[in-house]
Amino acid sequence: MASKLAADCIFCKIVKGDIPSVKLLETASTFAFLDIGPLSEGHALVVPKYHAEKMHQVPDSFLAEAMPVAKKIAAALNVENYNILQNNGRLAHQEVPHVHFHVIPKPNAEEGLTIGWPAKKANVDKLKEFAGELKL
Ligand code: AMP
Ligand code: ZN
Repeated sequence: MASKLAADCIFCKIVKGDIPSVKLLETASTFAFLDIGPLSEGHALVVPKYHAEKMHQVPDSFLAEAMPVAKKIAAALNVENYNILQNNGRLAHQEVPHVHFHVIPKPNAEEGLTIGWPAKKANVDKLKEFAGELKL
């Protein structure tokens, strides 16, 4: 699978080896390494070797390998609790504009990912209407 990398992207540079990283695993279409600003010990990133800012812009063939790689890392970390996180867009907390999946161990209440979850009560008829209008 031919990778597509950008010259001016920090994660593309890590994939190419132009910027050092603590590599965990590399496959034909993904590169995984430890996060330099970990939320907990073992916090890792899985990066498709395809430069795109958001997940819906990445070809399925590159995404297909990302979850098995995240799974492999999660299994190797041997932690009971963890989060898989993938942010799209600045408002959604994305800092690096190259798609990546976080594997974040959650060893206790203080370390790892903390999430705000402002749930509202949904109206089922409105949910059905919304689903019916989606072009999938
Ligand atoms: P996000 O907010 O989802 O874009 O996450 C970007 C992540 O990339 C953060 O957790 C950073 O700590 C991490 N990061 C940024 N630069 C590097 C780097 N050079 N090596 C490893 N991780 C990095
Ligand atoms: Zn990139």
